[in-house]
Amino acid sequence: MILANTYHLHLQPGEEVVAGGGGLHKFMGWPGPMLTDSGGFQVFSLSEMRKITEEGVVFRSPHDGQMIKLTPERSIAIQNTLGADVIMAFDECPPYPATHQEVEAATERTYRWLERSIAAHQRQDQALFAIVQGGVYLDLRCQAATTLAQLDLPGFAIGGVSVGEPPELMAQIVQATTPLLPPQKPRYLMGVGTYREMAIAIASGVDLFDCVIPTRWARHGTAIVQGDRWNLKNAKFREDFGTLDPTCPCYTCQNFSRAYLSHLVRAQEILAYTLLSIHNITELIRFTQKIRQAIFSDRFVEEFGHWLVTKSC
Ligand SMILES: [Zn+2]
Repeated sequence: MILANTYHLHLQPGEEVVAGGGGLHKFMGWPGPMLTDSGGFQVFSLSEMRKITEEGVVFRSPHDGQMIKLTPERSIAIQNTLGADVIMAFDECPPYPATHQEVEAATERTYRWLERSIAAHQRQDQALFAIVQGGVYLDLRCQAATTLAQLDLPGFAIGGVSVGEPPELMAQIVQATTPLLPPQKPRYLMGVGTYREMAIAIASGVDLFDCVIPTRWARHGTAIVQGDRWNLKNAKFREDFGTLDPTCPCYTCQNFSRAYLSHLVRAQEILAYTLLSIHNITELIRFTQKIRQAIFSDRFVEEFGHWLVTKSC
């Protein structure tokens, strides 16, 4: 599944252009499943000059300085126009740290915005997921998850994690919140993760993740190989003509050597970042495929238990 950002696509090229190209799948030539986020996270994390009211959020476009208003209705309309398979309710993602009072207000507003998101949703072929907020406060998380679980929606997400809180707090939030969401529906942990974070979340019942790590690290010349981070600028790769990961079926590993990838990274050739992204994404997908197989054969704790206790990657 590919995640596309509502915020970025709204600013550029604009959802009407995407719709004119036949919708997201056709526009970008991807026949597989797609998800759009609500735009809320980017507005709250990237935009300076933003103002939050009950109506929605007003912020300044980083592209042309124009003031833009995003409301639950507007976010859903944009996502209906973009045409992904899964769309997200517009939520308020409070920063970390924030007081209990501030997070409680944001969580309650997120619920009212969810009701408006549901009312605004026009396309039955798109699955609308609700988002649990609540910051690092377990009482707010549990209350929000219990309330949302009563709604007849096709999926549920845990948002507002991975915003700077310590890893132990994220683990606590996921472990407390996930079991409260309907097990027969997809449970999606937003903005996560690393091997360790995913293993912990899967142990709690999470099904779905999204994360910038594989592509962000690729853009920094870093490959993820069997759980380790390899910086390809490292001198030891200069004349290493072996495959990045001999067990990996990806296009990069099937066709290129570590030395060539190291050369591309050193030369800042943009192909390096594409090839490393292909490998890193393949690697994380293989990790979750192995976990799925381990769950099917009842060997999850045996094979992946070490990720639940050790700190790595
Ligand atoms: Zn590979």
